[in-house]
Amino acid sequence: MADRLELAQLPAVHEVLDRLGEALQRFPRAVVVAEVRSALDRRRTEIRSGVSEFTPLEEVVTQALSRLEEPSLRHTINASGVVLHTNLGRAPLGSLDVLGGYANLEYDLASGRRGKRDVHAALLERILGCPGIVVNNNAAAIFLALNELAGGGEVVVSRGELIEIGDGFRIPDIMARSGATLREVGTTNRTRIDDYRAAINERTRLLLRVHPSNFRIQGFTARPELKELVALGRERQVPVYEDLGSGCLADLRPFGVDEPLVADSLRAGVDLVSFSGDKLLGGPQAGILAGNPETVARLRRNPLFRALRVDKLTYQMLDRCLRGLLLERWELVPALAMIRQSAEEIRARAEAVLQRVPDLPARIVSGRSVIGGGATPEQPIPTSLIEVSCAKVTQTERRLRMRNPAILARIEDGRLLFDLRTVFREEEDSLVSALQEIATQAC
Ligand SMILES: *Cc1c(COP(=O)(O)O)cnc(C)c1O
Repeated sequence: MADRLELAQLPAVHEVLDRLGEALQRFPRAVVVAEVRSALDRRRTEIRSGVSEFTPLEEVVTQALSRLEEPSLRHTINASGVVLHTNLGRAPLGSLDVLGGYANLEYDLASGRRGKRDVHAALLERILGCPGIVVNNNAAAIFLALNELAGGGEVVVSRGELIEIGDGFRIPDIMARSGATLREVGTTNRTRIDDYRAAINERTRLLLRVHPSNFRIQGFTARPELKELVALGRERQVPVYEDLGSGCLADLRPFGVDEPLVADSLRAGVDLVSFSGDKLLGGPQAGILAGNPETVARLRRNPLFRALRVDKLTYQMLDRCLRGLLLERWELVPALAMIRQSAEEIRARAEAVLQRVPDLPARIVSGRSVIGGGATPEQPIPTSLIEVSCAKVTQTERRLRMRNPAILARIEDGRLLFDLRTVFREEEDSLVSALQEIATQAC
């Protein structure tokens, strides 16, 4: 049989190695040998399945080795207009000088003594007016809060607020693992303050409120005002904790984003709030817990805090984001700078881009950007879009994704759209090159 002959003629590992020459110098020998072995294995499978045209083995191995040199996370230009794109890492951080060397993470330079890493989130207290601590994400914050404040007891929560946060993860499952028992009250669409009141018993440790971030129940709905919940908690001496989800610190209402402000919840008197660092806060992945000093101090002492803490990169990026919020330097909080752009400003940018690609069959149309990240599901904000006339929309969209940097456009009703709201100015040159390429090929 022909394939038996071909199999017998396959070179030995050392023969392929001899032909590789230069690659052997650049990569550890064991890595090269592993790639050669796996290339030979694949070749055997190909021969058995009747493939007859082959790339030379040296080439296969060299390509596989080069791929090992490429970082896994690739710069992706987000032209989708989804500001907090969950699959693109939510809030973008802009260009950063990452501290690659040592840093005073837990070292007080003034006294020369050991310090606490919490000091690097001190701006939280400055902004919120109460102490805050930082954990890995908001799911971790919920876990820690319930473990400390309600572990071994009951936490009362409205049935209408038990949400799934994406990728199949459900808040109630995380809560159950914290050691607290969920006591669900009300119905999916209506929960009254008396439902909470009736559920309180000697095992009740906490009243929980969850912001219904990525969905809205429409129509016949009711839930008590936060103030009522706080009053009930005071009356029955049960602390109130609110999971705010997106954690809006800056008032974005003038820009069409109406999300509850963290400050409003604290002012209403809740004992504890938590929210994500990488949603409307505009910072790195993190979970912030803030509230009354004794409660926060208790959470800080819980051993799980050590397991859920964040590293120096997160503190560095969070500190920068909080400084941007405090001093209103929006360039330090790119997600908010993007939300703050008007449709007219975006149109001007789109016109400038199109002027650089005169041969592109395209026009500017009005459209909508989406906040994303589980915030304001129904409040898209007006934008201006570049619409490219293109027959092979899906192929072109895929080609854009396979570029370096990758470009993520949007397809809507068979139209190829680019929203510059989420494109950094520094990325416009790359986008222009890609559009020029589209203009010269039949797309
Ligand atoms: C997003 C969200 C979470 C989860 O936050 P992560 O930071 O992604 O862990 C929890 N609760 C609510 C209400 C949310 O919107």
